[in-house]
This record gives sequence, structure tokens and C-alpha cells, in this order.
Amino acid sequence: MRIAVIGGGPGGLYLSALVKKVAPRHEVVLWERGAAGDSVGYGVVFSDGALGGVQAADPELFDRLIESFVRWESVDVTYRGRTLSHPGYSFSAIERRQLSRLLRLRCESRGVDLRFGTAAPPLPLLRNDFDVVVAADGVGSSARNTYADAFGARVEPRDSRYLWLATDRVFDALTFAVVETEHGPMQVHAYPYAPGRSTFIVETTDRVLRASGLEDPGRVPEAIARQFDELLDGHQLFCANPRWGRFLSVHNERWSHGNLVLLGDAAHTTHFSIGSGTKLAMEDAVALAMALTDHRRVPDALAAYQAARQPAVQRLQHVAETSRDWFEHVHEHVGRPPEEFALHLLTRSGRISHRDLPLTDRAQVDRVRAWFAEALATAS
Ligand SMILES: Cc1cc2nc3c(=O)[nH]c(=O)nc-3n(C[C@H](O)[C@H](O)[C@H](O)COP(=O)(O)OP(=O)(O)OC[C@H]3O[C@@H](n4cnc5c(N)ncnc54)[C@H](O)[C@@H]3O)c2cc1C
Repeated sequence: MRIAVIGGGPGGLYLSALVKKVAPRHEVVLWERGAAGDSVGYGVVFSDGALGGVQAADPELFDRLIESFVRWESVDVTYRGRTLSHPGYSFSAIERRQLSRLLRLRCESRGVDLRFGTAAPPLPLLRNDFDVVVAADGVGSSARNTYADAFGARVEPRDSRYLWLATDRVFDALTFAVVETEHGPMQVHAYPYAPGRSTFIVETTDRVLRASGLEDPGRVPEAIARQFDELLDGHQLFCANPRWGRFLSVHNERWSHGNLVLLGDAAHTTHFSIGSGTKLAMEDAVALAMALTDHRRVPDALAAYQAARQPAVQRLQHVAETSRDWFEHVHEHVGRPPEEFALHLLTRSGRISHRDLPLTDRAQVDRVRAWFAEALATAS
């Protein structure tokens, strides 16, 4: 089988490595328009157990990942001069560049044809030349947009604006901080991801951003640092390319169209406040690699992949949307005493909690482990 993969994010790279692991004779070509080593964003966080499926499918990769993980066990809420710690959680994070590097090495060692710094050829050409074309081209997926009707795509630009920064302040918890600026509230989602470094995502609404004048990229990150001076405690903010993003909510009724199939953010997004997009993209990769091996006919494989993934993804998207809505309406919650505010934030007004994540399905993890063990025995 010949498989074309558009996009070298975690989803596309992991799918390519897994397919070559269980079916070494398949040809897998991956195009990534960015250079090898380029990476958007700083650290990515995973809640405990979130990578159970990845561990089951590829224990060697998982061992490399955990060597690079930074771990912590608390969620802190900083509001009106108080930091309230909530222990009893379990999180890990990794630098996105390091995650990409480890995935790239897996692909290289297994013989994936990696074409970095190269945009994918036109879709009609790929769909004609390859048995399967995987659109792992991210939230802005042009493959999805080209066939939006066929996929039943819903792409909804939200009020949530964000800036993905890093700082040399090392947080020791997943930290949510809300400051009330003169123009309205702004919040930070921060956590450590590497020695001496933490992710620092600033989020606010369109209205607050415009009123504050911070939309102008020339004014960040120094101006941001002034808003969060207490939280930063004299530390610096870093950003190679300061640019405010807008969160896009992505849903697709159908995940494939002919031999073109969506994977990761191209298929679905979850708000970054629940830190699950990378895990979902990697779990999609596990399911698609299994389906492509189990089914001789491509349409059967793609239908099995959607059936395996869509319900679980929809459940997590529901949790993420509750969380996203809470942050988009944070102005309705400010003004409470810090203890009450922290409880509201952690449970998003009693509707969800980080303890609800990642909804790990142990039985599914066991099935993945058994499937890969058998597939590897057959392949060798
Ligand atoms: C602010 C923020 C914070 C986040 N934090 C977390 C977190 O803590 N934990 C977590 O799990 N997730 C997090 N996420 C989500 C996570 O980044 C995504 O879910 C994840 O990267 C999806 O992986 P992917 O492989 O589907 O797509 P991407 O990582 O977006 O990769 C898509 C790739 O396709 C390439 N591409 C696109 N078009 C073409 C083309 N035509 N030809 C060649 N290449 C192309 C792009 O260059 C890109 O490299 C966060 C997202 C945001 C916005």
C-alpha cells in the first residue's frame, strides 16, 4: 500500500512511524512545509494516563518521551494576589520541539520518506498516485477546506484569542492566573515543560484585546509582561514570532472522502485549557494504523477508523467546549472571593474538572497493546 501524509505535526509523524512499524513493506511519504526542527508553540501538557494508548502501541517511543517529561502534581489558581494550590493531580509536559524530534527519529529509523521544507503536491495528484492520502495538516487544513461539504465540516472561529509564549519562570504546577486589567480580564495557562522553561499562554477575548491595544504584535511580549508582572516575578517572556491566534472549533461529520482521510486537528479541535489535542492526534494515528492493517479495502479501513475514534473524540470535545466557554465568559466569574473563584475555575462552574480527564479507557489500552504485539509478531 502507498500512503501519502500531508503534515509533519505529532499526528502525521506518529501515524507514519506506526504504519512502517507494523507494515514495513508499505510505502509512506510525508510532506511537511516547515523545516525539520521547526515547531509552533513551546511545551505541551498531558494529563496522567493520557498517553496509555501511545504506550501500548509503541513502548519504546513512550520510554523516550518519559525521559523528556517534566512532571508535577498540583493545579494552582492565582487570582487577586492569592495562589491556591490543589494537589492530587498528575500531569506531564514535553517541549513540542523535542516531541517532534523523537517522532522524526522513529520515522527515520523505520524508513518513512520524510520531505521536510516541502509543501504537499496538489490533492488531485496525491489522490490519484496513492492508495490513501492522510490529511494531518492541522487546524487550518486546506485538504479539509477543499472538500468541506463532503466532510460535513463545521469550522467556527471563536472569541478566544491566544498568544503562545514561554518564560524562564519555572512554575511547579499547572497554573491558571486571571488578572483584571482596566479593559477586562485576561488569563494565563502556564506549566513547566523543560529545565528552566515554562509555557505561558495568554488568553483573552476580542473585545479586551482590541481595547487594550495589545493586538499590535510590536507591543508584545513586553506589554504582556507588564500585565502579568506579579505572576512573572521579574522573569522574562519569550516568543520567536508574537502573533495572536484565534481558537477555531473544528468538527467533521465524516472523517473521510474517497481515499482522503482526516487526522488530528484537521478532524477535530479541543480548547487548549484541557490540553488534549496532541493526545487525540496521536490516538487517531494509533487507530488509523490499526484500521489500515486490519482491512484490505481502503473504504472499510477508513470507515473502521472513524467508528473507532469519533465517539471518544466527541465526548472529549464536549468537555473541552464547556471549559472553553467558561474561559470565554470569565468576566462573568470575576469578583468572587479567591477561594470561590478557584473552585469555579477548577470545576468550570460545577460542570467539569481536570479529574474528568483524560477519560482513559483501560480496556481499549489493553486491546491496543494486544493488537500491536500480534501485528509485530506477524510482520517479523
Ligand atoms: C495555544 C495552544 C496550546 C496548546 N497546548 C496543548 C497542550 O498543552 N497539550 C496538547 O495535547 N495539545 C495542545 N494544543 C493542541 C495541539 O497543538 C494540537 O492538537 C496538535 O498539534 C495537533 O497535531 P496535528 O498533527 O493534528 O497538527 P499540527 O501539529 O498542527 O501539524 C500540522 C502540520 O501540517 C503542516 N502542513 C499544513 N499544510 C501543509 C501542506 N499543504 N503541506 C505540508 N505540510 C503542511 C503544518 O506545517 C504543521 O506542521 C495546543 C494548541 C494551542 C493553539
